[in-house]
Amino acid sequence: MTVERGGRDVFAANTNGSTPTVSTVGGRVKVWIDQDLCTGDAMCVEHAPEVFTILEDGIAYCCEDGKIFNDPGGASELATVPIQAEERVVHAAAECPGECIFVEIDPIS
Ligand code: SF4
Repeated sequence: MTVERGGRDVFAANTNGSTPTVSTVGGRVKVWIDQDLCTGDAMCVEHAPEVFTILEDGIAYCCEDGKIFNDPGGASELATVPIQAEERVVHAAAECPGECIFVEIDPIS
């Protein structure tokens, strides 16, 4: 299992605060955000609105199957990325201006 800083892996969000419901069955990519570094520009949401959201505090959080991981600042807030969003989440992390999207990829066993 590896953990990489933003810029090398995936993530996504919603600017409207809605809670997307997307199946994560089979997903092996997980993601979290360090909210202390987030600029709130919502680029991640543009890439993967089913994985990222912007809340009332103006910063980004991860979502999984309708749950928003809104406890800031910890790798314990890992959200599983739907398979269809994995590539977009990687691109979001690569372009995140705060370099605060962290992706964890389970090795294929
Ligand atoms: S800084 Fe990164 S995590 Fe925060 S809103 Fe922008 S792209 Fe998303």
